[in-house]
Amino acid sequence: MHPAPFAYKAPHSVAEAIQLLRSHEDSKILAGGHSLIPALKLRLTQPAMLIDISKISSLRGIRRENGKIIIGSATTHREIEKSHLVAEASPLLASLAPQIGDVQVRHRGTFGGSLAHADPAGDWPAAALAVDAELVIAGAHGTRTVHAADFFTGMLTTVIHPDEILTEIRVPGDGTPGIYLKHRNAASGYATVGVAVTASHDHGHIGKVTIAVTGATSVAFRASGAEHALNGHAVSAHLLDEAAAHAADGLECLSDIHAPAAYRSQLVKVMVRRALGTLLHA
Ligand SMILES: Cc1cc2nc3c(=O)[nH]c(=O)nc-3n(C[C@H](O)[C@H](O)[C@H](O)COP(=O)(O)OP(=O)(O)OC[C@H]3O[C@@H](n4cnc5c(N)ncnc54)[C@H](O)[C@@H]3O)c2cc1C
Repeated sequence: MHPAPFAYKAPHSVAEAIQLLRSHEDSKILAGGHSLIPALKLRLTQPAMLIDISKISSLRGIRRENGKIIIGSATTHREIEKSHLVAEASPLLASLAPQIGDVQVRHRGTFGGSLAHADPAGDWPAAALAVDAELVIAGAHGTRTVHAADFFTGMLTTVIHPDEILTEIRVPGDGTPGIYLKHRNAASGYATVGVAVTASHDHGHIGKVTIAVTGATSVAFRASGAEHALNGHAVSAHLLDEAAAHAADGLECLSDIHAPAAYRSQLVKVMVRRALGTLLHA
């Protein structure tokens, strides 16, 4: 199906893009287009204007600043996958990036687009939660910074207002070990369940573990019960078994043609256990 007709603008600055968003009520940001264009073709959304942010160079790139890694929202999945800085400073992000779609998707799709889209099966939301990312959002009155924990408000929804743009994402750059494990839908490659885990440990004692899950429920979440069961304790296989066994407690898992809720719930437990075992060697 063809999309409904729309006007197209490609501004060269964030200020210009915000001005366009404000002066055209029914407008939408176009980043990599790999979620938006399929939705346009299915006529799930019919904006009157698309504002293409791919010409705004300030939204692209990866740099280190005050110990953090700053990633422009229009940076592609592939640029993150290929970044030596990300590989060294954020093993979790480096582990996730190559698992998104295929190489064509990764060349077009963007970090910020994935977060702003908030697909329940999207991979980046889990990583953003696990590393406590800070998301910088620009609007007519300046910028505001939102923690990942407060950013996702439900299926396909975030705190970004219609006249705002996600400009950059800040993640810790301390090299904390992390891993993303994904049970891929065989047809689409999206996560049936994906788990993003970071863990620091010292002389057999767990410092801090973070566990975030995508694909299982309508919005990605932190498995805080399992995290609390681990933090500060001595590493043992029994401890990891116990924590993982409770990682899906209280969840209302999604059920669809790809996987029933009980299967997703079981995947959460199994994959959290595998990720913990890999990072904590138990
Ligand atoms: C075949 C295929 C396979 C895929 N496989 C995977 C996969 O395995 N895992 C996965 O996570 N994703 C997958 N995707 C989705 C892909 O990662 C998309 O690139 C991503 O979800 C959206 O990013 P985008 O840059 O393409 O955003 P777009 O499609 O351009 O935009 C998506 C939405 O976000 C809004 N938006 C975009 N950027 C901003 C911004 N900076 N500020 C405010 N709003 C913004 C847009 O207005 C739109 O509503 C796949 C897509 C395809 C087509």
